[in-house]
Amino acid sequence: MDGFGDARWYAIRPAGSTKPATYRCPVCRRHLPALTDHLLVLPEVEPTRRRHAHTACVARARASGRLALREEVEPRRPGLLSRLLRRS
Ligand SMILES: [Zn+2]
Repeated sequence: MDGFGDARWYAIRPAGSTKPATYRCPVCRRHLPALTDHLLVLPEVEPTRRRHAHTACVARARASGRLALREEVEPRRPGLLSRLLRRS
């Protein structure tokens, strides 16, 4: 995935494109018409290198352990409220 695949984690969100462009999915490398339902995948550190990917390809990549999400790589500390509540 030409450097795109090197990030430790990714932000993934629905793409809301209205441009009649065609992208290339970074997972399967096939064409992806912008006006179909698909996802935006933003690598850590370089969100400007975001890529448009087929929803099914992202699901497949995640199922095989790729495209980790931030909360999977950097688990957040429990918030103040949950720490206080746990103490009772
Ligand atoms: Zn794809």
